[in-house]
Amino acid sequence: MRSPGWTSRRSSASGGTCTLPSSSSVASIKTRSSSMRRTPRGRWRRPRGQRQDLSGASCTLAERNARLSPRACGGRLKELIASDPAEVAPAATQQVLYRKWRPRRFGDVYGQTPITRTLRNAVAGGTPSHAYLFSGPRGTGKTTTGRILAKAVNCAAPMEGEPDEACPSCLSYNAGRALDLIELDAASNRGIDEIRDLREGTGYAPSSGRFKVYLIDEVHMLTDAAFNALLKTLEEPPPHVIFILATTEPHKIPATITSRCQRFDFRRITLSATVERVEEIGAGEGFELEAGGYELVAREATGSLRDAINLLDQLVAYHGRSLTLDDIRSGLGLVVDSRAYEMARAAVTRDLRAGLEALNAARDDGIEIRAFVREVVSALRLALLLKAGAGEELPLSDAQAEELRTLAAGAQVADIVAALRALGEVDFAGDAYDSLPAEIAFASLATGAVPASATPASVPAAPQAAAATPARPAPPRAERPAPARAPAREAPRTEAPRRPAASEVPAAPQAEAPRAASAAPPPAEPTPTPPAPFALPDGGEVSDDLRMLREQWDAVRTAARKIDFKAGALLNTGFVKSVQDDRVVVGFRFENHVDMVRDAEGGRVRQAIEQALSEATGRQFTVEPVHWEELQQAGPSPARQSSGGHMVEEAQRLGAVPLDE
Ligand SMILES: [Zn+2]
Repeated sequence: MRSPGWTSRRSSASGGTCTLPSSSSVASIKTRSSSMRRTPRGRWRRPRGQRQDLSGASCTLAERNARLSPRACGGRLKELIASDPAEVAPAATQQVLYRKWRPRRFGDVYGQTPITRTLRNAVAGGTPSHAYLFSGPRGTGKTTTGRILAKAVNCAAPMEGEPDEACPSCLSYNAGRALDLIELDAASNRGIDEIRDLREGTGYAPSSGRFKVYLIDEVHMLTDAAFNALLKTLEEPPPHVIFILATTEPHKIPATITSRCQRFDFRRITLSATVERVEEIGAGEGFELEAGGYELVAREATGSLRDAINLLDQLVAYHGRSLTLDDIRSGLGLVVDSRAYEMARAAVTRDLRAGLEALNAARDDGIEIRAFVREVVSALRLALLLKAGAGEELPLSDAQAEELRTLAAGAQVADIVAALRALGEVDFAGDAYDSLPAEIAFASLATGAVPASATPASVPAAPQAAAATPARPAPPRAERPAPARAPAREAPRTEAPRRPAASEVPAAPQAEAPRAASAAPPPAEPTPTPPAPFALPDGGEVSDDLRMLREQWDAVRTAARKIDFKAGALLNTGFVKSVQDDRVVVGFRFENHVDMVRDAEGGRVRQAIEQALSEATGRQFTVEPVHWEELQQAGPSPARQSSGGHMVEEAQRLGAVPLDE
């Protein structure tokens, strides 16, 4: 028997966020086996009412498990899953919070007002598009908004574009019985057969409403053949059909598809909006959380409202309706690790050895490095708030507050900010346990080799914080370019608002650009402070190939990151040193990076860099990694300067004069 087409991966789309396949979930299996039926027309269709009943009232532990966010799979929630189901039965039979509080009208969708307003206007004007692309991070309301749109376009008496929630059509949507909303999860139905089925289905009129709405979730998972089949439908859509394509990875969708859709980019929900929403839900449910508890939950959800609500749900299921901060911390797996403080201290004092040791110790203990670094960043952020005198209301235990006060007292604001910058931007890509990205970021910070782009353009807390410590002016640091260079950046866009005086010091990457324009600057002084402006140590002649490669270097890095994450990360500290025919010598700041490029994974990293070079330049090169000691002593990144040539020319054309010559 062929597999039914219209099953949803999350049987109720209730917020599956874990990687566990939901086919393991009892509810999902039931959905597939018992609630599917062949319609007289031979199409597979899911009676949505049954689905709702299954997932709502009799939610199983397995299903709850499948709904856990990856983060929630840590800490004491693991115990919950492992524990006797009978223990958690009362909570498990409740209706899941996320579904219970799922928005039913555009006006209830959180944090996406520009999108919902546009959609409402389209419904009110009777002019919905035939195809929409909803992109954005998970848990930000794409599917929910799609369902509301389906409901609104089919409502008998919409009010200013909102469904009236009273007509038979609206009721059928709310009960999950609407036949004109067909949902397809492309993650599990990615082939051409499903899309062919779908295309056949579009030929039939809607069963009761005006529009048949096809909501395809995770559409980027479709195969190429399936995309082609879908494209044919999108090219000539029947007038009664609306497609809503939802995706977390819009760049994977062919341009031929996106160009036929009206696209909406869903934003991450801000922390304050997430807090507001979970507070609202908590109050509605009668939960009692210690002050600061909702913020902890919201912070852990990192912009996904669905995660936040599900985390709250899990916490209440385990600890009951009254929660202390300690309950929440342990429940969320936010075990306060003293090594996170060690690492934070090492970051502000730029103690290379202590930081790498803390990182390695955490890794050796099997701690997820991404979570660890997030903990370090959180500690640094709190220290900054304390330093700025804004720490009175923070949700901290006494021990934590003590640690942080010590940390804050021994650091300067500029140091904390630099550490936050360096560690806050670590990109772990796919592997949360890989410590290399964090090591590179930390080593760059500790050795003063932070790329110029990491210079704070504006730091909200800085003016206030600086005022709090007037007696200790920050010493010059390698990663902070002198203010005198700022005009080069201002010139091209004079309308740019001036920043307040306190943030004068930092300047944008382009600010150092004048250097690149001057031919063959002398080698940098080997003293780290005061910062010598970076000068390429080779001096003298720069061949056309070398110049071309240096100008393309950012593109090479971008390409490398896409091909192999490790290669991209390593290239952050690597720069073209010389070119001879098709042989490119790439210099690295650190010797171990040279080894990694040369040998890592059977040369895979090097191959990735070579491929990136070929993609960025259209030529074939072989790469030879070498240790380039001078880079360690240089301040800002040479890549910025060398690639900034055209910007400098442009700035000078507009009247900018380099001031630091
Ligand atoms: Zn209605």
